[in-house]
Amino acid sequence: MLQIPYLDLQVLHGPIQKELDAAYHEVMEHQWFIGGEADRQFENAFAEYCGAGYCVGTGNGLDAIRLILLAYGVGEGDEVIVPANTFIATVLAVTYVGAIPVFVDADPDTYLINTDKIEEKITEKTKAIIVVHLYGRVVKMNEVRRLADKYSLKIVEDAAQAHGAECEGKRAGNLGDAAAFSFYPGKNLGALGDAGAVVTNDEQLAKKIRAYGNYGSYEKYNHVYQGCNSRLDELQAAFLLVKLKYLNQWNGERRRIAKIYTEEIRNEKIMLPNMPEDESEHVFHIYPVMVEDRADFVNYLQENGIGTNVHYPIPIMHQKAYAAYCKTAYAYPVTNRICAREVSIPLYPGLTDEQIEWVVRCANRYS
Ligand SMILES: *Cc1c(COP(=O)(O)O)cnc(C)c1O
Repeated sequence: MLQIPYLDLQVLHGPIQKELDAAYHEVMEHQWFIGGEADRQFENAFAEYCGAGYCVGTGNGLDAIRLILLAYGVGEGDEVIVPANTFIATVLAVTYVGAIPVFVDADPDTYLINTDKIEEKITEKTKAIIVVHLYGRVVKMNEVRRLADKYSLKIVEDAAQAHGAECEGKRAGNLGDAAAFSFYPGKNLGALGDAGAVVTNDEQLAKKIRAYGNYGSYEKYNHVYQGCNSRLDELQAAFLLVKLKYLNQWNGERRRIAKIYTEEIRNEKIMLPNMPEDESEHVFHIYPVMVEDRADFVNYLQENGIGTNVHYPIPIMHQKAYAAYCKTAYAYPVTNRICAREVSIPLYPGLTDEQIEWVVRCANRYS
């Protein structure tokens, strides 16, 4: 039987193995492992890719969000608007700096933050809005920008799932005041280990974030902030530089597969994701479908050799770590519903037509 793992990085890396090997050898030749030529080249290339002025590499995506908040001076007692439907890292970054996450429920059509429900959550303590381009789909920024202007708030993009996604011709990373990216291996642009970056048009902010992630120093042994160590290393930068060249092609392949699923899966038990009118808005990091009986559907696909994942099974407000928010957890009906029903089916560059057809056929036969 055909086996279709939820994710297969071998099919992505196989065809570019030689280039990745060469990148490794080049770093080994220089014997310079942090903050060298590869870092500089990748940061420049990625800033340019996003259409933004600056990119600062970080150790991972969570740190990228956290460093943005730190650099903006968001801290104790401040409130930050976040989507209730997101990966835990978005919220961890907020509470790490001592601020209070204020959750906004998801939009039932896009599963993203419901921008019509942000304004009612803004108070005098609100300092920033974190929009998450979840599943690879960009948040429509008009309303967010209007609110940010009206209340003088910073817009932080969590673009960890949306490398290359566009809103009205501008790419994720260039839609707010500062953006955080993750290059965790399974992301649309992934390193061969942990890595992340901040992208912004604000030169001062970029400098400050670089200093924060480098022990709080602009100059060696001169510490102006109580910073941390969160940097992109040369090996990861060298690998990312190779993979960045393929990002548009890979995103195109993701869109092609998403289109096939959307056109060919016809089963009243499976609710497919709503597709944006403008396909450039979505890079399909994840293809989320909704079913009533998740355990049954996951088990059925497993029996047919198809791997799945869930993004995400437990709302953040129900997590033990955020027990303090439990009393209001039921105020997010859309998020609760998504978390109860969501199943992610395999979608990545390198899936063969035969594999794609098998996923479609099995989904259509599910009863
Ligand atoms: C992956 C991810 C992160 C965190 O990135 P790491 O590199 O794993 O720290 C943050 N937000 C979202 C939405 C993510 O998907």
